[in-house]
Amino acid sequence: MARRCVIVGAGLAGCVLANALSDDFEVTVLELGPARGITYPRLAFPRKTLGVVNTFCHGRGGTSNLWHNGLIPLRPDDVGDATFKAMLEDAARYADRAAAMLHFPGESYSRSFAGLLNDVESLAAGIGTFADGVDTLVYPKHTTPLSPPSSAECAFDVRSIRVETSGERITRVSWSTPEGDHSADADLLVVSAGAFGTPGVLTDVLEPFGIDPGKAGSGFIDHPMGFVGKLRFPKSVADSVAQFGLLDRGDHECRSMIRLRSDDGLLGCAYFRPCLSMNNDLSIYKYKSLLGASSGRKRLRNALSPRILHPDIVSEIVSHTTGLQIPTRTYSVLFMGEQRERVGGVHTDGDTHTIDWGISDAELGAYSSMIDGLFNQLADVAETATVTRDLTDEWLWSGAHHSGTVTVGDADSDLLTADLQVRNTANVFVCDASVIQEHSYANTGLTIAQLALRLADALRR
Ligand SMILES: Cc1cc2nc3c(=O)[nH]c(=O)nc-3n(C[C@H](O)[C@H](O)[C@H](O)COP(=O)(O)OP(=O)(O)OC[C@H]3O[C@@H](n4cnc5c(N)ncnc54)[C@H](O)[C@@H]3O)c2cc1C
Repeated sequence: MARRCVIVGAGLAGCVLANALSDDFEVTVLELGPARGITYPRLAFPRKTLGVVNTFCHGRGGTSNLWHNGLIPLRPDDVGDATFKAMLEDAARYADRAAAMLHFPGESYSRSFAGLLNDVESLAAGIGTFADGVDTLVYPKHTTPLSPPSSAECAFDVRSIRVETSGERITRVSWSTPEGDHSADADLLVVSAGAFGTPGVLTDVLEPFGIDPGKAGSGFIDHPMGFVGKLRFPKSVADSVAQFGLLDRGDHECRSMIRLRSDDGLLGCAYFRPCLSMNNDLSIYKYKSLLGASSGRKRLRNALSPRILHPDIVSEIVSHTTGLQIPTRTYSVLFMGEQRERVGGVHTDGDTHTIDWGISDAELGAYSSMIDGLFNQLADVAETATVTRDLTDEWLWSGAHHSGTVTVGDADSDLLTADLQVRNTANVFVCDASVIQEHSYANTGLTIAQLALRLADALRR
């Protein structure tokens, strides 16, 4: 009889794993959210809110229902943690398969990416000299939320996940749904409940082993992100800037960024987003983000604001609805920065996630220095520039790359080994955004999928 793998969470990682394992295992997927549609959890923020819109959700496909599907490799050389760096190096061989599962249309993502990066570097060279280089995010034009394979047994609206154990192994998993109580024998358990869900699931699952999940949920990193200034470029570089901002390649497109590094080694990046005015107004930036990230009835309600008539908002709407870029030489600078200090954390109580997030003064100082550096690099190129000099955390919100709520490493105090196995268990694993220990400025989806495929291969073995 085939071995059974139970996966908790039908989000990005859970779906990639379920699809990768379904030929070799009986796969059971347990999802907190509903079978159809998505729900949003109740959230409490003792310090800073993540943002004005929802940045994760529950349901089939998890946050792949909300995401923009931009694919970028997290460069191992941009990571300081030796164990995580080695994991990324090992997971590099899964980039093509991971990108294909995340809708990249070409034959080889890695080959296409190398070519695109080359093109983007040439465009950047036509604009100016960028000391820390450039990078690019690849967006497949056709995308849909992920789903577990039809062969997997899926349970939705799942609560009260419990395990029976024998020594260091789980032997059986039980759960409740509105229809009643259920259970199944299990040879493997993988927790993929996302950066906010996984710590709570681990607390319940590890209790019978007598393992204290310890630091699970204490420590959380994200990408603080926000519009921080405007630049108007001369005609001589306008074409290069426009293509650097958005490069259309038929079935996929690239949005590129300038890499930035602070003196103390933190990384960040800056995107150029077309706009019409040089007005550097935080309330308009917030409204633009609210409108861009909301959908359905919420987006309609948000559209009723008088701010919709602001030229920058009109240009954004036209470019989104028609796919046409308004000809402009004026750009907003969208900054995204790295967090390495794992302060704060997440805690689940019933249906409420308490998310303790903040941006430290040291991080704000590092981001300010990166932004200053960028504007200095562009001082001789841009016609005019306006930049936020006193960056406060009001200007920055969550980039929705919630990560790092579980520790991975070689120390006994790290909950997971580099193979993503819960230490002192024989058959319990974790794979999702919670295991991302550092993330430079890179969106996390591709890396999560690569790590999921790496884990799937190890489980098969
Ligand atoms: C608006 C937006 C745009 C984004 N754009 C990009 C992008 O362009 N590129 C990119 O790389 N990333 C992007 N992201 C981030 C990306 O979507 C996430 O990094 C990724 O989905 C995280 O995957 P995950 O598997 O860790 O978690 P999720 O996809 O959130 O999945 C976790 C799943 O576990 C379930 N779950 C939680 N608790 C439990 C429980 N107790 N029991 C059972 N199930 C549970 C949840 O319901 C959910 O289905 C974006 C995010 C947002 C919000």
